[in-house]
Amino acid sequence: MSLFFNFEQMSSKKSKIIVLGAGESGVGTAILAKKQGFDVFVSDFDKIQSEYRDVLNSRNISFEENTHDMVWSLLSVTNEYASIEVIKSPGIPDKAPIVKAILEKDIPVISEIEFAGRYTDAKTVCITGSNGKTTTTMLTYYILKNAGYNVGLAGNVGKSFAWQVAEADFDYYVLELSSFQLDGMYRFKADIAVITNITPDHLDRYNYDFQNYVDSKFRILQNQTEDDYFIFWSGDEVVNREIERRDIRARMMPFGNTDKDKKDNRAFMNDDSLVFEDITKLQFLTMDIDSLSLKGIHNMYNSMAAGLVGAILNVDKSIVKQSLATFEGVEHRMEYVATVRGVRYINDSKATNVNSCFYALQSIKTPVVLILGGTDKGNDYTDIAELVCQKVSALIFLGVDNEKLVRFFSKYKNKGGNAISYYEVRSMSECVEKAYQKAKEGDTVLLSPCCASFDLFKNYQDRGEQFKQAVLRL
Ligand code: ADP
Repeated sequence: MSLFFNFEQMSSKKSKIIVLGAGESGVGTAILAKKQGFDVFVSDFDKIQSEYRDVLNSRNISFEENTHDMVWSLLSVTNEYASIEVIKSPGIPDKAPIVKAILEKDIPVISEIEFAGRYTDAKTVCITGSNGKTTTTMLTYYILKNAGYNVGLAGNVGKSFAWQVAEADFDYYVLELSSFQLDGMYRFKADIAVITNITPDHLDRYNYDFQNYVDSKFRILQNQTEDDYFIFWSGDEVVNREIERRDIRARMMPFGNTDKDKKDNRAFMNDDSLVFEDITKLQFLTMDIDSLSLKGIHNMYNSMAAGLVGAILNVDKSIVKQSLATFEGVEHRMEYVATVRGVRYINDSKATNVNSCFYALQSIKTPVVLILGGTDKGNDYTDIAELVCQKVSALIFLGVDNEKLVRFFSKYKNKGGNAISYYEVRSMSECVEKAYQKAKEGDTVLLSPCCASFDLFKNYQDRGEQFKQAVLRL
């Protein structure tokens, strides 16, 4: 009798999904969870954007905003549910009190990608790395689209993966994955995984331990089998070291500078050409480096990674070639703004770490007025010091607190035979005005700040927009 009663009681319990964060990722997750029959609750510690609030209301999905109160209450009645799972937006750190409390109760916390991956059989191309993720993701998507594939774009770009799994029917997805998304992934498998490079970033979220961040990036390979692929830059010491100490089952597809120093590179440079070697239909595709639409060595690597995905997925080589030659680039990444009185202005606002600024500087052939600054994520500027001495005529520090930059670069003021002056500014209009005064005809003004933007701007897009507007007002 009592057994029967318990069974009934158990079967009436619902499976609960709690979604933390009601942005693109969280709202998409809620839609998919509801479609799958879960009892869904969405909680955001901030105000929810009105467009997302409308979506939740129109689909009868319960939510709270400006608080996690309901989630706190739920945590005291967990036995009322058959199961509880929490899907956390990537922006919310594990240190957040609500996440800590959930983890202490042994409730699983996963990412949107892990959750949505359970409900699709589409092939996934997953792209991570410290720099070049968005560019490589967009370029790969562009190639597959041009080839006529039924492909979705998701992850950090475009509409959320979960939302598309709920409402679209794609055969392929190209997913840009940050380390924060990877941290919440356990069983998900990438059919093709790409690591563009690994350099220190986001150390504030990884206890200032670089290895924690590296481990997070390598989660992209977990669950891969011999049938899957791993594309990576063979010139990256960190990636190579990790490969040596790990048991990687996927087929390796390295790319790099030449085939001489690294014989197994499947894409490489040969004099003025980019060569893709011997993979299915792409066999020995060769194209002039000059014909690549994206310039700079870093973009050549991004083109190699995207081209290799095309090769693996049997895209016709003429389509790969044409796509790599016609891709228009992504806003705020080495984006040409205008030439004013013979000075070129480049918006690289997305360069939020030192390594991306390094490649930006490296790709510019003229003297540079360089704009740095913002919220420092634990930067070491040593990596760009030499290039700054070679190329930069003036530095402009744009931030609330520029002390670290001033301290670092004052050491280099007269090094390399090139006297570098620096200036501090606290608004974009002041910054562009100063750049305009300091740049000479033939120079380039480069906004490639090495830092996050939150001290003076809403985000890097806002910083880039303000830069472009100020330049166009000159
Ligand atoms: P992510 O999405 O990883 O931040 P993006 O494609 O948005 O990468 O590019 C961010 C910045 O990094 C850009 O400003 C660009 O100059 C630089 N960058 C792009 N690709 C690479 C690469 N392969 N290596 C180093 N830096 C790169």
